[in-house]
Amino acid sequence: MSKTSAIFPVPAVKVSPRGATRLKEGHVWVYRSDIVSAGGVPPGSMVGVIDHRGQFLGSALYSSSSQIAIRLISRESVADFPELLGQRIADSIAYREPIIRDTNAYRVIFSEADFLPGLIVDRYSDILSVQILTQAMDTEIVRATLIAELTERLHPAAIVERVDPRVRQLEELPPRPSSLLSGEKSSTTFTMNGVQFNFDALEGQKTGAFLDQRKNYAAAAQYAHGKALDVFCYQGGFALHLATHCSHVAGIDSSRPALEVADQNAALNRREIEWIEANAFDLLKDYAASGQRYDTIVLDPPAFAKSKRDLDAALRGYKELNLRALKMLRPGGILVTCSCSYHVSQANFLEMLAGAACDAHRVLRLIEVRGQSNDHPILLNIPETAYLKCIISHVSQ
Ligand code: SAH
Repeated sequence: MSKTSAIFPVPAVKVSPRGATRLKEGHVWVYRSDIVSAGGVPPGSMVGVIDHRGQFLGSALYSSSSQIAIRLISRESVADFPELLGQRIADSIAYREPIIRDTNAYRVIFSEADFLPGLIVDRYSDILSVQILTQAMDTEIVRATLIAELTERLHPAAIVERVDPRVRQLEELPPRPSSLLSGEKSSTTFTMNGVQFNFDALEGQKTGAFLDQRKNYAAAAQYAHGKALDVFCYQGGFALHLATHCSHVAGIDSSRPALEVADQNAALNRREIEWIEANAFDLLKDYAASGQRYDTIVLDPPAFAKSKRDLDAALRGYKELNLRALKMLRPGGILVTCSCSYHVSQANFLEMLAGAACDAHRVLRLIEVRGQSNDHPILLNIPETAYLKCIISHVSQ
């Protein structure tokens, strides 16, 4: 028996010097190409990580299929993962208690950023929505612990699991439908910043709403005025917030089901908003060409860069949208422009915006450079946890 396995009652995985350096620098991932030996380690098990000299680096969750083979969960040796899970859930809830204001919808657990890689839990009023993204988080004991801990600490009326079939395929997990894990209701209403939203846990994209934009909605509303356009509006997150400050608001999206919910949300808040089903690129081109003018424009497209390779094409896409929006904004107008692509850095995004302003012959003043809401914490040594950019600027001329 090797020295390492005598100390740790869990299988050991040896990583290359490059993998070890990454962990020592504070990251928690080791890619498969940096695994030296993981022979016979069962999928989804907890492992002890050692470097090429046999030095212990921490405890991790192992995936037999993902390119991210190792996700560190502790720098210590962990004997009982379910016990640690309970502690981490309690810590995630405690972290948010003093910082969550004006909302009953927020992210309760954000994967790596809450030291629980592969697990996302969102709260929508009395319903919790869970996403399980790795083999290790999908085991029966982990699922049972998760449901018991969430129920005891947050007393939800229901817990729903949202399944991304592609993720299960990549993790080589058997297919599973999205379904109720506890309780009976799967729809409710929630309130953020005083605005009400319908929520159906078994419909919609992601886990239901874009909670990471919560504080950006409130910030955008502060500056919004006049005639406003919310481009890529989904279920109306920005549009509904703008409606309290603007004389006319229109929202554009290509998804009819999203716009149907947006319309119900407008009714819930007694707001008049015009919803337009269209391809945003085509519509902005037509509007700009026909001389339409706005005082406030929000651009919140889906992620254009899914990998580093897409960066140039993504920046061209962002530039086209921003250029058209800038041409349509009146002097004194407000542009709220977002990117949720991790691979587009804040510096890349600001440079793109400067280029668009130059090409549109407009002078932009930055009012706020913003990111994701604080229930989506950023770990400084894990750059991937910071992904959302939201730039609010004023068109001076
Ligand atoms: N601003 C929204 C989130 C936007 S998510 C909020 O805060 O809730 C991105 C949205 O873009 C999705 O609703 C998707 O349906 C829409 N979309 C994707 N491609 C599009 C296109 N080419 N034209 C219009 N909408 C598009």
